[in-house]
This record gives sequence, structure tokens and C-alpha cells, in this order.
Amino acid sequence: FHKDKGSIQNDNTVYLSDLEATLRYSLEHEILSRSVISGESLNALNSYLELLIECFPSSIRGKKFIKLIWDNTHLNKTVSGEKLGNLINNYEFLLKPYVTKHNWIGCEGSQPIYRKYPCGLWTMFHTLTVQASIKNLTTFNGRQVLETIAGYVKNFFGCTDCSEHFMNMATTIQTNVSSLDDAVLWLWSAHNQVNQRLKGDVTEDPIHPKIIFPSKVYCETCHQIGTDEWNETEVLKYLKNMYSAISLQKTSFD
Ligand code: FAD
Repeated sequence: FHKDKGSIQNDNTVYLSDLEATLRYSLEHEILSRSVISGESLNALNSYLELLIECFPSSIRGKKFIKLIWDNTHLNKTVSGEKLGNLINNYEFLLKPYVTKHNWIGCEGSQPIYRKYPCGLWTMFHTLTVQASIKNLTTFNGRQVLETIAGYVKNFFGCTDCSEHFMNMATTIQTNVSSLDDAVLWLWSAHNQVNQRLKGDVTEDPIHPKIIFPSKVYCETCHQIGTDEWNETEVLKYLKNMYSAISLQKTSFD
């Protein structure tokens, strides 16, 4: 991987730095900005934290950090964002849960308006589905993994348009997903539908054009020869490989 200003090479590497920056933003901005979290949104938060404990590729201190947050949410009927914020600050200070600096690497945009958190959120969601499948989780089945992701998107993701679109797609989870592998493929397919819709949109970073993923350059066998069809066995293999090989590499700017 090499990166110089002006020509960013996209090599489909997943960086821990992007995942940690995403987690941090999710906790410190999206969750804490809510004054009161209760009912459906508290259930969504608990489920999200449980999935992170199981599947986020964090250090032991990182896991402990998320577990401590969950300790303070799952037995309560109501949680205040402000109180949770104070706890998170304390635990972060005590535990130093993050391994990397919080800069975007894979999700860096060519201009400040592009990519970053939404890109990080997709990256984290794919990572969670893949980790769930590789670990063969028993605490979540495929449907529950996706419902947890959808619960986060519905209750906390600040982009309301994105959330509405995603919730429309999420209506197919119940009938189309049972195994943990199905969940990996469902999210891949949903993300491709979004890519297709946003192709040429003003939010598209010209250095990172929206493509139907993965392109032939990265996975030739994912595409059935001579047709527009996918070879889903190969796609699954590709996704599992990509989202389990998390790179610790830092930028040359560190
Ligand atoms: P992203 O689309 O964010 O993708 C990040 C990385 O994921 C890519 O660099 C690539 O490595 C990988 N990737 C790409 N496609 C796939 C795939 N199919 N499977 C696996 N990996 C893949 N923006 C809107 O304007 N309208 C919306 O309705 C909308 N809905 C969204 C819904 C969700 C749940 C999220 C997280 C974001 C949504 N966004 C939406 C934001 C938008 O999808 C992009 O995240 C944003 O435009 C930044 O794009 P990007 O080029 O960084 O790549």
C-alpha cells in the first residue's frame, strides 16, 4: 500500500485504524448525542454493544472497554447520553482501549467532504458479519447479526436518508437470511444496491468511484464468465478474506 497526496490507491485493505475511528465516532457522537436512550433504542444499543464485544477486532483492553459500557446500559430502563459520555471518557482514560491513532486510512477521501465515517461504518458492518461467520457465533444467528446492524442504523446513524433507505432493504432480511454466511452476502448485496444508486452522485469521491463490488480486477472468479451473474461461493470467499485480514499498518504521516 502506498499513498501520496493526489493519487490514492484503493487496494481493498481493511485497516484497524478506520475501524477504531468508526467505533469512536459511533460512541462519542452518534450515541452520546442522544439525551435519553430507552425502549427500542436502548435494546438496539445493547445488541450493538453485544455484537461488538463478540466480533469487533479489538485488543483485550478494547473488549473490556466495550463490556464496561454494556455493564452500564443493559440493566437499565433508561440511559442518559451525558452520563454515558462521562463513563466512556473515564474508561477511555483508564483503559486506553484503542491501538491505533484515529486517522482514516482506507476511508480517507480526496477532499474533507468525502468518505470517512459512512465509509468506516460500512467497513465495520462488513467486518462484523464476517467475524460472526468465521467465529461461527452461537449467541447471534445470521438474521440477528443483520437486525442488530439495522437496529443501529435505524436508531443512531445520523444520516436519516441513509437510514430510511437501509430500513427499506432490511425488510428482506427475515425471508432471505438464516445462516451467518447468508448475513455476509446479504450485506454485500445491500451495499452494492446503494453503490449503484449513488453512482455519479455529488457525494461520490472522484478518486473512489462507486463500483459494483468486487470488481473483476480484484476478484475475477467472483464473476460468472460471459454473464452478469455472480459466483456467490467465490464472493463469500473473497469477503471473508478481505474482512478478516485486518491491517495494523499506519500511514506515512503518523
Ligand atoms: P463506501 O460505499 O462507503 O464503501 C466503503 C468500502 O467498502 C469501499 O471502499 C470498499 O472497499 C468496500 N465495499 C464497497 N462495496 C462493497 C460491497 N458491496 N460489499 C463489501 N464491501 C464493499 N449515502 C447516500 O447518499 N444515500 C444513502 O441512502 C446512503 N445509505 C447508506 C447506508 C448505510 C448503512 C451506510 C453505512 C452508508 C450509506 N450512505 C448513503 C453513504 C454511502 O454509502 C457511502 O458510505 C459514502 O458515499 C462514502 O462512499 P465510499 O466511496 O467511501 O465507499
